[in-house]
Amino acid sequence: MSNASLLILPGDGIGPEVMTEVRKVIEWFGAKRGLSFDVSEDLVGGAAYDAHGTPLTDETMAKAQEVDAVLLGAVGGPKYDVLDFSVKPERGLLRLRKEMDLYANLRPAQCFDALADFSSLKADVVGGLDIMIVRELTSGVYFGEPRGIHTEGNERVGINTQRYTESEIARVARSAFELARKRDNKLCSMEKANVMESGVLWRDVVSEVHAAEYSDVELSHMYADAGAMQLTRWPKQFDVIVTDNLFGDLLSDLAAMLTGSLGMLPSASLGAPMANGRPKALYEPVHGSAPDIAGQGKANPIACILSFAMALRYSFDQGDEAARLETAVNAVLADGLRTADLLGQDGVAPVSTAEMGDAIVAKLDASL
Ligand code: NAD
Repeated sequence: MSNASLLILPGDGIGPEVMTEVRKVIEWFGAKRGLSFDVSEDLVGGAAYDAHGTPLTDETMAKAQEVDAVLLGAVGGPKYDVLDFSVKPERGLLRLRKEMDLYANLRPAQCFDALADFSSLKADVVGGLDIMIVRELTSGVYFGEPRGIHTEGNERVGINTQRYTESEIARVARSAFELARKRDNKLCSMEKANVMESGVLWRDVVSEVHAAEYSDVELSHMYADAGAMQLTRWPKQFDVIVTDNLFGDLLSDLAAMLTGSLGMLPSASLGAPMANGRPKALYEPVHGSAPDIAGQGKANPIACILSFAMALRYSFDQGDEAARLETAVNAVLADGLRTADLLGQDGVAPVSTAEMGDAIVAKLDASL
């Protein structure tokens, strides 16, 4: 693997705690699998505000643009709630996503066998589940103009506009087709073409990209409301799902929760390919900075560790090594190790953040 550079931004709250465990995993891949990363570390969010008066410095932003992948912990915390909106910790993350133009948000919903009972659905519905939702992240109704609240006659009117260009749809569709090719070669596109013109265009453009470039991938279309039903009825019918910003926001949360705890959920946000062919990429757990448990060694590091597994697969083309890491996580869970967020009522004592990280590294050792 040539010149793999990684920028680590631990952030706030439990971010630095979970990132310490990811560091152990990164070092293991360097020492035992010859995957050496050029790793640098910097501040983001409240930590950056405390040091520099801004949640992301221009220098850190420039570094993020240069590296092959950024790995972020979490940002935010009650201490920063009083800050002006322009310097809130979340602005650091939003700036990264915006300036790197990360238009494809990948949210896997993967159910580890040992946690099948943890889901709100029946174990046979979620056991072995492995699907990927690709959400368009930089356009659609969250950004479209006109928007706002104004007065018409004697009442207020709230307006948001769903707007998509062909090129915005085509680029996220390509990301999803590429992913499908690395998985089970099946893509389902979801919109509301029955009631929205932007949905009609979405369906047309996805079909055009399919016919021109990806006819080897099995493509289907579904209305997003029917998709929500199917996701809870029989989620294993899906492989990759691609959808817009709003529907993706809802459907990815729904699908992710099929599998249990927030402490288990990784994500990736990808942009256009760089000169070396790797996509611009930011990997981060779905969870936030969890101020209620920060500093207590209780955080589950698995979401962040699985985010690094996604980096191995999608930025560094190391799918086999990513699978090795996911298998190690599964093995640790199968042994019954649980951080506090994964505990049921069965009286098992929880392990700490560091113990979970060490156990995963031990399973990696055992995989050799
Ligand atoms: P949260 O995800 O931080 O926490 C929600 C609940 O889940 C808490 O009870 C927490 O203890 C638990 N939890 C979360 N991650 C966990 C883990 N890895 N292991 C064990 N338990 C875990 O969401 P919140 O409480 O709504 O927000 C807290 C702060 O995080 C806020 O400042 C918010 O703005 C910020 N936030 C940041 C991000 C991000 O950085 N991407 C995302 C969401 C929220």
